[in-house]
Amino acid sequence: MSDLNSAQKPIDSRDTWPQRTRPMKLLTTFFLLIATSHLSAQTITIARSGTQTGQQGPSTNFTGAVRVDPLFQATAPARATGGLVTFEAGARSAWHSHPLGQMLIVTAGTGRVQQWDGPIEEIRRGDVVRIPPNTKHWHGAATTTSMAHIAIVEVLDGKSTEWMEKVTDRQYNAPLREGAAATTEPTRAQQLMGDIAPTLADLTDRVLFGEVWERPQLSPRDRSLVTVSALIAMNRPDQLRSHLARARDNGLTKEEAIETITHLAFYSGWPNAVTAVAVAREVFGTEQTPPQ
Ligand code: MN
Repeated sequence: MSDLNSAQKPIDSRDTWPQRTRPMKLLTTFFLLIATSHLSAQTITIARSGTQTGQQGPSTNFTGAVRVDPLFQATAPARATGGLVTFEAGARSAWHSHPLGQMLIVTAGTGRVQQWDGPIEEIRRGDVVRIPPNTKHWHGAATTTSMAHIAIVEVLDGKSTEWMEKVTDRQYNAPLREGAAATTEPTRAQQLMGDIAPTLADLTDRVLFGEVWERPQLSPRDRSLVTVSALIAMNRPDQLRSHLARARDNGLTKEEAIETITHLAFYSGWPNAVTAVAVAREVFGTEQTPPQ
């Protein structure tokens, strides 16, 4: 019996190759841990809209009412962080620079950007602005309209922004680069009625389109949808024509416009819907929808 026992003993590997197998087991455990943590890092995450708290931009770095809504933080190995920054009319950042530069994507309104010793440039919704590394600059809203942009920066050695002095009123109110202002061309309201009703044209530009339409509480697309719906319900094809074109420029697709009209047929009447379809055919049928 004792012979049998001793013959079976080598099956237990711990006693036979102690030096080799113990480190191997440790290694296996180690790699399993690595593989597990790697897997969890690869999981898609969704930060739901409204779950990230925004805050007022600090008065040391900003002038006027500025709201900063965080979008994403740098997660290694990536080092880009993103935020949505909303500037009320007249608000702007202080002068600053970014070690690896910055990308600004204007999502609403009209604003301004300037690099040190350069002209003030007007920026509008849809514009994409690249700030080179270590370049002193500021960005903010226009004097009478708000502006929102998504800002993306990369963190270098734990830092993404070097803050400097405030932008003075004199610097902020300096004239725009020659030819940069959209106001050099008469607006649609000025063309339509500037000669006979200059005050109404001015109010339309300054109050309606300058202030109400630029308010960030509704996206331009949502504002367009609401306006277009009201014009369909009131059966105003002349105003609907220009507002459908504006809605298209604000991202409303042909399919969404037709669906809106179909929906409204039940609330505003079949004749209104049919009139609106004819206008939609003019607006969406002849011109190409811009890429979404
Ligand atoms: Mn910047």
